[in-house]
Amino acid sequence: ELDVDALRAWILDVPNFPSAGVLFRDVTPMLADAEAFGRCIDALAAPWQDAGVEAVCGIESRGFIFGAALARRLEVGFVPLRKPGKLPPPLVEVEYALEYGRDRLQARSGILDGGLRTLIVDDVLATGGTLAAAHELVTRLGGLTVGAGVVIELSALGGRARWPRELPLRALLDY
Ligand code: IMP
Repeated sequence: ELDVDALRAWILDVPNFPSAGVLFRDVTPMLADAEAFGRCIDALAAPWQDAGVEAVCGIESRGFIFGAALARRLEVGFVPLRKPGKLPPPLVEVEYALEYGRDRLQARSGILDGGLRTLIVDDVLATGGTLAAAHELVTRLGGLTVGAGVVIELSALGGRARWPRELPLRALLDY
């Protein structure tokens, strides 16, 4: 069986994408390999098997791929947290700062009502703004965040500091 660290072999480093000076981590080769993708989802699921997770929220767009597969593995439902203009009303949204400018995440109002125990999933943790916004959105949707799972943490960017200290944040690979 594949070691989690061996997944690095399927993650490509792409310099100067999407803009000059950025080193982009491309997970698509890993998705295309049946064994590596399966191992990745197994490893993402493992810490949460007994955490009482009731819903998985995935962040657009690569968070949908990992999140939906993880939701099936945990046998819970999936909720997409989407960029503006994609979902019909009624919506709840959060606005958050990017390196340059601002962005928003939206989801269907009340979709986690009743304090649904929610796991947030994305591919990459960079500066942490996106994941922190997702946690705020889960709260506004009536859910209770139990933690977050990401495939890759770019730890030099310090994004973990923006995540609530009392909530677990699990990363498969540290870059
Ligand atoms: P943050 O808000 O700065 O933590 O950025 C995280 C978001 O940007 C996630 O939704 C990622 O999908 C995306 N992202 C940032 N860096 C990379 C990368 O190197 N590869 C793929 N996605 C990235």
